[in-house]
Amino acid sequence: MRDVVVAGAGPSGSYLSYALSKKGYDVLNLEDHPEVGRPVECTGVVTERVFRFVRSKSIANRVSGAYVYFPDSEPMHIRKNEETIVIYRDSFDKDVSAMAVGAGTDLRVNSRLIGVKIHEDCAEVTYRENGQIRTEKSRIVIGADGANSVVRKDLYEERPKRIVSTYQVDSAVRMEDQDSVSVYLGSENSKGFFAWAVPTGNITRIGLGTLGSGAREYYRALEKHFPVDRVVGITGGPIPISYLKRTYGNRSLLIGDAAGIVKPLTGGGIYTGIVSARHAFRAVDEALENDSFTQEFLSRYQKYWKEDIGRELFIDGLIQKFFSKLSDRSLKAVYKVLSSPDIIGRINSIGDIDYPSKLVFSVLLKHPSILLNALV
Ligand SMILES: Cc1cc2nc3c(=O)[nH]c(=O)nc-3n(C[C@H](O)[C@H](O)[C@H](O)COP(=O)(O)OP(=O)(O)OC[C@H]3O[C@@H](n4cnc5c(N)ncnc54)[C@H](O)[C@@H]3O)c2cc1C
Repeated sequence: MRDVVVAGAGPSGSYLSYALSKKGYDVLNLEDHPEVGRPVECTGVVTERVFRFVRSKSIANRVSGAYVYFPDSEPMHIRKNEETIVIYRDSFDKDVSAMAVGAGTDLRVNSRLIGVKIHEDCAEVTYRENGQIRTEKSRIVIGADGANSVVRKDLYEERPKRIVSTYQVDSAVRMEDQDSVSVYLGSENSKGFFAWAVPTGNITRIGLGTLGSGAREYYRALEKHFPVDRVVGITGGPIPISYLKRTYGNRSLLIGDAAGIVKPLTGGGIYTGIVSARHAFRAVDEALENDSFTQEFLSRYQKYWKEDIGRELFIDGLIQKFFSKLSDRSLKAVYKVLSSPDIIGRINSIGDIDYPSKLVFSVLLKHPSILLNALV
């Protein structure tokens, strides 16, 4: 019997497989696709923090600014000292997976998990590897199989409540300013989320997220800003922006997108997925050491990740809910306050895409009227 089966070789599953294998555990990592990292469903915007955990040089660009377009307003330009990094997501995922395989993980590509059962003495997974149905037993199973997790569907009753659907094209357009991303707000671009354009040299990643469905329809509004005949790739997919009430069960844990552990304001889940994997490592290690896999014992996983990023995700979730309800008129009122030099200075000095709540509180303390103005 294996120690651990990890379903999914995205950043979360590969990082956890790496950490467990490095400790000497017998880890089987199942990946549905024939190649790790493909197809790409991501814009690839991360902070330096990710590189504290992952050895990777797959960097497409570094940006330090953003143009934020509020409805019918001049773009607001913000600029930070620290750079935000735009990665090549396919090779980044391969790099994390290589760390896992290098540490001893048994990675099986072309291996789609199709079912999980929990028995008293083991977890049992069924998967299809190159067309052959196989089963494997392990002491614990981890769902790192993304937004449509099979582990979650089979073992957990809950689904993430807030899902953003996305549509993104790679366009052969070179943005003039390679040092700034563009963010488009308002009802023309999205329902309750935002659209973006991210420069990576001769290719620009242009996309949007919207609450519920209909991302492709909103894309038509974005096309106004860019030539339509230069599309060299299309991607998209769901992003769960709310985490589950319970991310652990008997002999199982959910990490990353499978658990909805994603930044609600931006839909970024690479960093939070790796953070959840780190805490899952600690809990799984303790469970294997103590030979204890009850739901009660494994609840420590949720305690660990919540102590670290739970407060931030909770607050960001509330802000996102508030933001998602603002009309264009309200957004314009918010713009009037935010575009003052004092606030732009504040954004430039304390804005942090991994931990945005600090900035939001700082702005609200200085301008509490923004809340009332937003509700006009
Ligand atoms: C358009 C778009 C843009 C995004 N942009 C950003 C961004 O700029 N920055 C950022 O931080 N995040 C971004 N995200 C979110 C980010 O992609 C995810 O949060 C992140 O990939 C989560 O990592 P994960 O390992 O938890 O899941 P995933 O990366 O989804 O990995 C899950 C893995 O499991 C595999 N799998 C699925 N089902 C099975 C199965 N049944 N059996 C075996 N394997 C299976 C999949 O093939 C995949 O390899 C974006 C998402 C989208 C859709």
